[in-house]
Formats: sequence, structure tokens, C-alpha cells
Amino acid sequence: MAPRGSSHWSTRARLGGRLFCNGASRSIDPLFFGDAMLGLMMDYPLTLTTFLERARRFHGKKEIVSRTATGIHRYTYKDYVQRVDRLAGALKMLGVNQGDRVATFAWNSFRHFEIYFAVPCMGAVTHTVNARLYHDQLAYIFNHAGDRVVFVDASLLPVFEKIRPQLKTIQHVIVMADDGKPVDPKVGLDYEALLADAPAHFDYPVLDERTASGMCYTSGTTGHPKAVVYSHRAIVLHTLAAATTGLLGIEEGDTILSIVPMFHANAWGLPYTAMMVGAKMVWPGPFLQPADLAPLIEQERVTCIGGVPTIIGALYQYLKQAPGKHSMSSLRRVIVGGSACPPNLMMGFKNDFGVWITHAWGMTETTPLGSVCVLKSTFAGLPPEDQFRIRLTQGLPSPLVEARIMSEAGQELPWDGVAFGELQVRGPWVISAYFDDPRNAECFQDGWFRTGDVATIDGEGFIQLVDRTKDVVKSGGEWISSVELENAIMLHPDVQEAAVIGVYHPKWQERPLACVVPKEGATLTSAMILEFLKGKVATWWLPNDVVFIEGVPKTSVGKFDKKVLRERFKAHPWPEA
Ligand code: AMP
Repeated sequence: MAPRGSSHWSTRARLGGRLFCNGASRSIDPLFFGDAMLGLMMDYPLTLTTFLERARRFHGKKEIVSRTATGIHRYTYKDYVQRVDRLAGALKMLGVNQGDRVATFAWNSFRHFEIYFAVPCMGAVTHTVNARLYHDQLAYIFNHAGDRVVFVDASLLPVFEKIRPQLKTIQHVIVMADDGKPVDPKVGLDYEALLADAPAHFDYPVLDERTASGMCYTSGTTGHPKAVVYSHRAIVLHTLAAATTGLLGIEEGDTILSIVPMFHANAWGLPYTAMMVGAKMVWPGPFLQPADLAPLIEQERVTCIGGVPTIIGALYQYLKQAPGKHSMSSLRRVIVGGSACPPNLMMGFKNDFGVWITHAWGMTETTPLGSVCVLKSTFAGLPPEDQFRIRLTQGLPSPLVEARIMSEAGQELPWDGVAFGELQVRGPWVISAYFDDPRNAECFQDGWFRTGDVATIDGEGFIQLVDRTKDVVKSGGEWISSVELENAIMLHPDVQEAAVIGVYHPKWQERPLACVVPKEGATLTSAMILEFLKGKVATWWLPNDVVFIEGVPKTSVGKFDKKVLRERFKAHPWPEA
């Protein structure tokens, strides 16, 4: 430091990131920033390219395995990195520039994994599109993002072709096929041919760590889906945290099977974490049935899986029905999130396979790891039932993520495990604004992100979700907008009003139940309502049942009071499918 008392520096002030002395620009104090001492570390950008280069140097022999339409595909990180280089070059040849959005419309596979790194490392933005969304939402998402290129799995082409006429910005469609047959040039370019024609070497640009690396849309509960844009810095920090023992504890010796789709919140960061640590990666393709997953886990000696409760629950049921058919002895970590982990699933995995499920909470907007439930060592003396109760909570906020709960009146609530309010979070991998969205103002409060979840936090810091501020129906880890369904039903000329609630379903966790008030004198049946909805909403959004009620209960301000309906129909028997 220049001597603090020296007249030369005594009146310095910070202006626009530079230091000024005695009112005039002199030189930058190399050691101080205002009154704070500067750390003398390199300003090294936190970008995904460092993970790619790390894999190239250190993990060339590790395997990446994919289940494809034609069988198991297997290669090494060495092959992978070489193909990523070619893909980056191919995109450049197609005219993709820094900042361009490159969409994927694909299941979990080695090619999708290649795109996950080639696109951001060449400076463009990977936009993973949820192939399960309704057509109009898909068209909106592609157009809003302004995607220039889209990579489409051959198996998803029939869906893509339906929305293609509505897409305004796509210049190149690249088809990823497993069968080796040439792609019809009228449909698009062939992924493999593109790579074969690309240069083997690619010079990756040095990127600012704040550069956008990826993009993902929320499921759009009311109105259009909202766009979340990730930065390299956010993903790198998230990855470092995810790998730590206090969170997911993923390491080089792991074999990871990501059941959670790569289009859902970055597959919970598993592709990045695997890459950083050099873990063996297993991709299930579109084959998510338990009968497909169980042998994959057994044969590849998978140690770590991640999925929503519906899928992990279905896997568990399958394994239970045929005890000993598939060995799960390699499993050491089962990550469950996206919806609350049911107690019987948690207990079942422990009793039958000796693995405590790691329960995690997160959102597309939180990259997603917001909190993870790992018991503290100080809980060791607690009775087993208390420990079990804690395991079912959503856990502690991740390192670098801060959490608070707020009352409707905007007051911070105590951490007593009783008071509940809206969960709000902030941190380096928490969204600061949605991309190009007029709803931004209502989603943030004093620099905190409003999650829309309602939670308690106990004295130890463990978060427990108790409800949602919005009444979306959670079906198999995906969201169904109750409001959109209601609006569609209320278009029926014989319907006076309708409310849709999520009701427990043994397979899907929740399914929509439509509570309909017919107009006076009208005769309506469940079949008439369902028939009316066909073509207006995605098929998987269709309510599993319709009940007719005398009136929708209202709150004091005239809003639908769905709590009352939920209570009334909580044991509603679903008709046989
Ligand atoms: P998405 O952005 O589609 O991943 O959905 C995020 C939402 O899923 C959160 O706001 C929660 O409502 C819900 N969610 C995620 N993880 C959990 C969990 N472990 N328990 C209960 N709800 C969860």
C-alpha cells in the first residue's frame, strides 16, 4: 500500500472502477480499492472451457455410455472432447456467432452432452427445450429465444415438424439419428456428417465469465413460460458446490446416470459436475421405464442417480416386484427433487438397498441446487424418527445461497420451523432477472428472488416446503397450469365456472381434478368436458377426472379458494385408466 497517511493518497476516491487522487486522474492504486485492500489473485474467468480442457487433459480414459435406439453406445472422454471440438467448428462454419442461441430438442444422450459443452465454449448459448411442452408453448419458446439453430433427436422429429411452420428465427435444423441412415436434406442437416466435415481443431475464445452459457424456460404456470439465462460463472460455481461432500459429494470414481432430462434445469447440473470431476457418465436416451433403467444401473455399475419422485418411485416399485432380479449394490447416492420425496420411497430405498435418498430442492431459476438435505453430525444423537423427519425436509440452503421466508406483508419470518411464508433466495447461481419479460418486477424483492414456494425454516436452517403460492399441478415432476385448464374448461358454453386442483395420484404424484359448476339447467358429463378439452391442451394435461359442484368456494377477495376444494377432494378415487 502507499503509506496510508501519505498526502499523495489521502484524498483518493473511487470513480467508475478507477482510483482518482486529489480530484484528478493519476494512476490506479495497485493494492487498494477505496479503503479495502485488494486481494492479489488472478482475475481468472470462471468458464466451462476450463472443465472441457480438464477432461481433455486428465480424464481421457473415462467412459461415456448412452442407451440409443440401436443399442448401447460407448466411447471415452478423449473421443468426446474431439467431437466437441469438431462440433464447435461446425457451428462456426454454419455462421453461429457469440451470443447466438442454439436450441436442443432432445433426450439425454452423448450427442446432447456434446452440445452442452461445444455451444457455450464457442461463446454461444445452449437453449434446452422441454420436448414435453404443448405445441403453442414450444413455438413461443423458440421464437422468444430467437434460436438460430436447433438440434433435434430423430425420434422427436414428428413433434418438431408440427411446430416448425410457426418458428420464425431457425436457420438450421440438425438431426441426430442413431440408425446411421442419411438424413433427408429437406428435413435438415445430419449431425454426424456435419462433424465429419468439420475441422479437427478448434480455438476456443477467451470468454468473460458473465457470458451467457445456457438458457431454459420455466414451465409457465400463468401466461407464457419465462426464460432463465445462465452464465458461465454461475454454472462453474454451482458445479464446484454440487461436487462438495456437504452437497451431492460427486467424485471421479462415480458413475452417474442422469434420469432427469437435460432440458429440465440443466439436468440438475449433473453433466457439468461429471465433466469437472471426470466421472463416468451414463445417458438413458428416451428409455425411462424402470425395465430399461434397472439393467442399465446394474450393468454399468451406476453409483449415482438423479430423478423426480415419480420416476424413482416407479423404479423402486419395479425392483420390489422382482427381488434380486437386478443388483443395485453399486448405488451409493440417489438424488430426488422436483417434488417432495414421499416418506415410503425414502424409507424403502434405505431398507431395501441401504441408500438414504438425498432430498434436494431447486428451481430452473436456481440452476437448480437451492438446498440439499444432508444431516449434520450433531444430529447423530437424535432419535431415528427425528432424523428421518429431517431427511424429508428440503435441507440447508446450498453454500453461497442465502434463504429467507417472508410474510405476505413483506416481513421476514422467524426460523422456528413453524412460521411459514414465501421462500426467497439469493446467490451467485440464482436468477437476477428473466430474459426479456415484463413480469420481472413482481418476481424479485430487494434483490431477492421470490420462489413462489411457501416454506418454514427451522432453527438449524433446514427448509421445509409446505405449499406453493401458485396452485400448479405437479405431474411426474412436470407442471400443469391449473389456471390454463380452468380457462379452457370455462370456454364450454354450458360451464358456469371451474377450478382445477392437484390431487394425489399413486403413479404421477398429483393429477388434475376439474371441479366444474354447470350453468343452470345444463346437463354435463365428465366425458363431455374431457372431449371439449382435447386439442386445446396437451394430452398429458387432461384432467384425470371431473366432478360437478354447486359453486367454487371463494376467498374474502373473491378469488377461488382451492384449499377448501383440496381438502374436500383429497381422497378422490381416480377412475381406472
Ligand atoms: P422447476 O423449475 O420446474 O424445477 O420447478 C421448481 C419447483 O418444483 C419449485 O419451486 C418447487 O415448487 C418444486 N420443487 C422442487 N424441488 C422440490 C422438493 N424437493 N420438494 C418439493 N417441491 C419441490
